[in-house]
Amino acid sequence: MIITFVEHDGGRADRSSLEALTFARRLASGLGDSLGAVLFGPEAAAAAAGLGAYGVTEAHLVDDSRLDAYAPAAWGRSLAGLVGTTSPAIVLAAGTDRGQEVLAYAAAMLDTPMAANCIEVRPGEPFEVTRQRWGGSLLEEARLDGAVRFLTIAEHATQPEEAVAPSTVRVAAFSPTLSEADLRVRVVARVAPEVGKVSLADARVVVGGGRGVGGAEAFSELEELAGLLHGAVGVSRVVTSAGWRPHSQQVGQTGTRIAPDIYIACGISGAIQHIVGCKAAKTILAINTDREAPIMSRAAYAVIGDLHSVVPALSAEIRRRQAS
Ligand SMILES: Cc1cc2nc3c(=O)[nH]c(=O)nc-3n(C[C@H](O)[C@H](O)[C@H](O)COP(=O)(O)OP(=O)(O)OC[C@H]3O[C@@H](n4cnc5c(N)ncnc54)[C@H](O)[C@@H]3O)c2cc1C
Repeated sequence: MIITFVEHDGGRADRSSLEALTFARRLASGLGDSLGAVLFGPEAAAAAAGLGAYGVTEAHLVDDSRLDAYAPAAWGRSLAGLVGTTSPAIVLAAGTDRGQEVLAYAAAMLDTPMAANCIEVRPGEPFEVTRQRWGGSLLEEARLDGAVRFLTIAEHATQPEEAVAPSTVRVAAFSPTLSEADLRVRVVARVAPEVGKVSLADARVVVGGGRGVGGAEAFSELEELAGLLHGAVGVSRVVTSAGWRPHSQQVGQTGTRIAPDIYIACGISGAIQHIVGCKAAKTILAINTDREAPIMSRAAYAVIGDLHSVVPALSAEIRRRQAS
């Protein structure tokens, strides 16, 4: 069996977990193996019910209310315990912060290696993977040892795709054995995003702002455009370092990876650390005063000009068309 760690919210699996499940199903079908899932949290049963569409036949719900909130070592310990009782050939997760962390804990507890951010897996002996390094700017061919192979799948490397025929999901509760030390690090509070705001990771339109925006106040122009397009605002690290916007809005290697239909990059030069976070965008529109800025080589469209003129003009035109 291949077990996939599934992250979920509001009773539905996250998009990145659906990508990982799609990857895992193809792998399982090549190996003639079955597909299982492991889920944590109070809404796990609801999320598990939807996984048959992705070919999951067995869902393990970790049954311990102390794990309702995220606790990396304890979740890792639970996964390690589940591996001990189910003996999967492969344990897989999306290459999200949690996917990497939980699998790394579980693999370390089982004294087994793990390969992060894989984009291709060639099972067999040797078991080979191609994986992204340095935020995707380098691809590495690696061999993965261990009785159980632990790997994460690079976000946006696969499109989520339902199975041709849905399967019936058998649900089983799993009670982990934990120590107090496993629970030392855990989430104690969550700050909900502002109501009505689109999440950056899932937004179909992202309006990005960089140093060229010039200051915190000027982001109102980008907010307006993002609002008109039902999108989200994303920013470069310069912007978060300056304290103009929160880190939760940072796009890039040390921020969120986005995959919108269109990314409107305003006053962003296009440093590689930023590009790794937005290269999965279907279309990039750059607005920049510098026609030589590196972002231009990534952009399908560009407006060479001052964003403080271009962005309000775009918003005004959208408002005019929406009104007519
Ligand atoms: C380990 C590491 C990790 C990093 N992680 C990240 C990351 O996750 N995300 C990230 O973004 N960066 C990251 N960085 C930083 C990255 O290297 C760049 O410094 C940063 O992305 C640059 O931000 P910027 O494009 O906003 O600023 P700049 O590079 O200064 O570019 C500003 C752009 O604005 C244009 N401009 C100026 N005024 C206007 C105007 N009025 N109208 C239109 N255009 C204008 C300029 O022509 C220029 O192209 C990381 C760096 C390191 C070393």
